[in-house]
Amino acid sequence: MMGDSGVRVRFAPSPTGFLHIGSARTALFNWLFARHHGGTFILRIDDTDEQRSTEESMREIYDSLKWLGLEWDEGETMGGPHSPYVQSERREIYEKYVRQLLDSGNAYRCYCTPEELAAMREQARAEKRDRTYTGKCRNLAPADCQRMEAEGRKSVVRLKVPLEPIAVQDLILGDIRVEADALQDEVIVKSNGSPLYNLTSTVDDLVMGITHVIRGADHVNNMPKQVLICRALGMQPPQFAHVPLVLNSAKGEKLSKRRHGDLVSVGKYRQGGYLPEAVINFLVRLGWSYDDKTEIFSIDELIEKFDLGRVGKTNSVFDIQKLQWLNGHYIMNMDIAARTDAVIPFIEQEGLLLKTDLTPARRAWLEKIVESVGDRLTTLTDIIPQTSYFFIDDFEYDSKAVKKWWKKDSVLEILGGLRNVMAPLKTFNVDEVESAIWGYTDTNGVKRVQAMQPMRIALTGVSFGPGLFDIIELLGREKVMQRLDRAISHVNGGA
Ligand code: GLU
Repeated sequence: MMGDSGVRVRFAPSPTGFLHIGSARTALFNWLFARHHGGTFILRIDDTDEQRSTEESMREIYDSLKWLGLEWDEGETMGGPHSPYVQSERREIYEKYVRQLLDSGNAYRCYCTPEELAAMREQARAEKRDRTYTGKCRNLAPADCQRMEAEGRKSVVRLKVPLEPIAVQDLILGDIRVEADALQDEVIVKSNGSPLYNLTSTVDDLVMGITHVIRGADHVNNMPKQVLICRALGMQPPQFAHVPLVLNSAKGEKLSKRRHGDLVSVGKYRQGGYLPEAVINFLVRLGWSYDDKTEIFSIDELIEKFDLGRVGKTNSVFDIQKLQWLNGHYIMNMDIAARTDAVIPFIEQEGLLLKTDLTPARRAWLEKIVESVGDRLTTLTDIIPQTSYFFIDDFEYDSKAVKKWWKKDSVLEILGGLRNVMAPLKTFNVDEVESAIWGYTDTNGVKRVQAMQPMRIALTGVSFGPGLFDIIELLGREKVMQRLDRAISHVNGGA
């Protein structure tokens, strides 16, 4: 689905871990911007940090993006006119542009030693200057360079930054002015020959024809550097849009991989039983709003409505309860067959059933179980605690429920009585069971709740859940009888 509007955006994750929820939002905003404008969404892998980049992380990022439905038009695994889309495989391209910068006098080799640089930093601190590098190697003659190379000195490549303020425009944050003192002759190639992020990213954005760079505001300080590299190469920079950060609700701190662990990994939400639609809907509202009230958006609505003009300038707060609410909403909106399909992998993973064992009759039974849970699923994994008793017989009895309902003298008689009236029933459907049970309570002057709660614990282990008659029908006669017997023996002091 390659667009032809001319809009070209990219998502450029560094494969140093799982897909962070904030990065997923960046990917989503890029994807929506591309789809809204009929443009092209590119996936580029920023693996200049060779030590921290892994294949495994790359795969996890692809999986998470695909799970969210954020398919890319060009990029890794997809190919495209600018292959390869992994930076570590693009070294020759960067070398060509570095040569151009050196030849045109816009970049130079710097031979300063770590000690010399440390002294410069120290001096800048004493003089309260932001700029630390003094420009010592800016104007070295070729003979000086040769001499230092002959001495075995290593060099980095620095960009020659004009000593004047720079004004840049951000589509979200507005006009940004950076004072001359805040800029330095940035290192663009390390002494071991590795090009650095600002160089590789800028070159790729130019070469790949990126029109809009949409990314997290943690990169806003890189924008002037990247604009200067574009100018030094004599090229027009892309437009920039920096999206304010996602903060952790508790203390207003940045949501970080290190401190907030599972909360920030897209993969964990998938494993935790969240639906991609809910996660997308949640992510888009972290920073973007259509009006003051609408919370629920389908993908098609988002593609139609998404616009950078409605991205706020302030940081947004991560609110897990809102995600849970959205997830519950999306689960409820699935029809029973789809909801059943969605919970099966979780039930299977728990070892409670095998998908291959699902005969049509058993599938119909499972759908009724899912239906009986009603709107009580916040996540798909909630199906386990809410229904595991349908699949296992030797569940534990909840001790609080036992204390409350099984300690009365009448319990044994009531459980036995209920067993007796249900045993001879013919069809064991809801109507038949209901009239047998009410027949028993009415005839014996037993309050309904005094019969139902002890029986519920006997059949499910807990004192809450779906309608008890539904549970009885779904369990069937054999299991109901077995479970009543097990409960009677437990109350009697047995196992
Ligand atoms: N690799 C950078 C990151 O993951 C992306 C920076 C950019 O979009 O320019 O934060």
